Amino acid sequence: MTRKLGGGSLVIATHNAGKLKEISALLDPYGMKCISAGSLGLPEPAETGTTFAQNALIKARAAAQASGLAALADDSGLCVDALNGRPGVYTADWAERQHFEGEPGRDWYMAMGKVEGLLQQTGPDTDRGAAFHCVLAVAWPDGEHAVYEGKCSGTLTWPPRGELGFGYDPVFVPEGADQTFAEIDPSEKHAVSHRADAFAKLVADQFGV
Ligand code: IMP
Repeated sequence: MTRKLGGGSLVIATHNAGKLKEISALLDPYGMKCISAGSLGLPEPAETGTTFAQNALIKARAAAQASGLAALADDSGLCVDALNGRPGVYTADWAERQHFEGEPGRDWYMAMGKVEGLLQQTGPDTDRGAAFHCVLAVAWPDGEHAVYEGKCSGTLTWPPRGELGFGYDPVFVPEGADQTFAEIDPSEKHAVSHRADAFAKLVADQFGV
């Protein structure tokens, strides 16, 4: 049986204010007081893992050890069936672009185009199946940990459609739908997303709900 959080302080191993807000809102009903790793001045460890679970654990363990508190981290990305699961843990890296001034930036259109280009190279009848994955890792300062894996299956469409969402949302059509994640209301996306799936598993295990 996994150790339980049981209320109290929880460090969220992210420097992203949006993620902190979203996670705090989800865990607040269970008596968790979420604190960001950024506000504690904790360093961001290198994500050297080759799986989502390894990277989520690297981040959660580093934050738990540095803060002396329980910590939660997530790692997510897109796995394309015909590309043997790529871009996977490198999902964000595929959008990395070096501007001519030498300033790095993310170009999601370029990243979606790279996936599409590789898919088309595999042939005209290629399998367009893909899934977003999200892994949540909870770590305690003594090294104990728990991992929850969420998934949302669907297909990739081209060209991109929709203005909502972020990242690869404009090319991802979830199973059973015909609109992309960037065309549907965010509340509809949040009901079926890989993140919702992982959070439902965490809440069921940690808080028995
Ligand atoms: P990370 O988990 O913050 O490292 O995010 C990995 C990358 O996966 C993000 O930068 C996005 O490009 C992609 N990603 C994760 N979740 C979603 C999603 O819900 N929609 C679109 N892209 C996503």
